[in-house]
Amino acid sequence: MQNGTILTFDSTHTVLNPGQILIQDGIIVQLGETVDLTNIRVEEVVDAEGGLILPGLVNAHTHSPENLQRGVADRLKLEQWLPLIWRDLDQLTPRQNYLAALLGCIEMLKTGVTSVIDHFRAIPQDLDRIEAVVNAYTMAGLRATIAIMIRDRIHPGDLPATRSTSTPLISQSLPELVDICEEAIQRWHAPEKGIQIMLGPSAPHRCTDQLLERMQILSKQYQVGVHTHVDETQVQAEIARQLYGKSAMAHLHDLALLTPDLFIAHGVWIEPTDIPLLAHHGVSVVHNPVSNLRLGSGVAPIPALYTHGVNIALGTDGAASNDSQNLFEVLKWTALLPRITLPEPENWLSARDVLSMAIRGGAVATRSAHRLGSLEVGKQADLIILDTNHYAFQPLHDPYHQLVYCYHGTTVRTVIINGQMVVDNQRIRTFDEGAVYQETAEIVKKLIKGE
Ligand SMILES: [Zn+2]
Repeated sequence: MQNGTILTFDSTHTVLNPGQILIQDGIIVQLGETVDLTNIRVEEVVDAEGGLILPGLVNAHTHSPENLQRGVADRLKLEQWLPLIWRDLDQLTPRQNYLAALLGCIEMLKTGVTSVIDHFRAIPQDLDRIEAVVNAYTMAGLRATIAIMIRDRIHPGDLPATRSTSTPLISQSLPELVDICEEAIQRWHAPEKGIQIMLGPSAPHRCTDQLLERMQILSKQYQVGVHTHVDETQVQAEIARQLYGKSAMAHLHDLALLTPDLFIAHGVWIEPTDIPLLAHHGVSVVHNPVSNLRLGSGVAPIPALYTHGVNIALGTDGAASNDSQNLFEVLKWTALLPRITLPEPENWLSARDVLSMAIRGGAVATRSAHRLGSLEVGKQADLIILDTNHYAFQPLHDPYHQLVYCYHGTTVRTVIINGQMVVDNQRIRTFDEGAVYQETAEIVKKLIKGE
């Protein structure tokens, strides 16, 4: 790869202008102002003339079935929105789950996402549906972490609306759920190849302590992460107080769940005393500002977490609460949102900090910081090329600033994942977008609109 400006996102944020990268078997083997090609037969030269080259973004929290429900159910808070959205989505067949995941892949790939965490909900949870999404991401060539969403408790305050469906919210026992998780890990967990399994308890108040403790044991046993929602809404924070007499984070601490392998989505209503606890135990937080605004959930204390040294990753959340899967929107909101409540500019996040959250922070949230998160020799080649011949970068003053504040992610020229070119000249190479649109439209007609 040659002639582009490389933002490496290494620890000192080295920029090479221009720079060259040599990729072999999916690994960056050389990177610099020039590379040495003596005795090397180059198979393909990518000319990145006029391009910005940077590591791909990590969408660290979404729910793929919601790709079928974008643009619906506006002006509802989470507790009213959830049963309405999921009534139909819990009924999907494996084929429908497969297509829903591909629909998300189209938007993510075309807006520069190279790795996703799909906190995958299916009730009842089953291996066929998990296999369907594993197959979708594998076929698309998008690196994916499937966090298997499970629950074994209902709190009445969590779900005030009724569900008019035959599927009860809880239909599986803890041993059944554990079997599914273990089987999925054994069948599909292969992080270096692009698919990994995580444990995905839905949220502490939707799980018994027994389930949560079991997750911690499995996490250690199989060396997999635990990804869960915590304190997304004020209602949830109040439920935690009621159930435990303390915050959800303090309760997870009592259960010994706070470790560097715990990744919490949202944390909007965590308490000030939770922040040093999270920092001390190396827990990551995945921030989803667009979803939090859409559902009126509130504003997470990201600058405070960040200054305490908590790893922050960024997510879109599901398409039914966003309504896109575009991480560039999330970048801008992440940078600007704290400015409403924090009067002093020195407490605001910089554009480069925010981009780092989506890249280096995302690598940590996928337990991949040793393999991904920067363009450096020895790391896996997940990178994107953006055209600077675009109004967002004209005139070009500061690429970090303009990536966050000016760009919308809609003209990503090239996406390379694990050394494979997945998007070439803004076209997905791995599957047929049009066919996915067609079949998902049919599904929605039948399943959701009941035609
Ligand atoms: Zn979520």
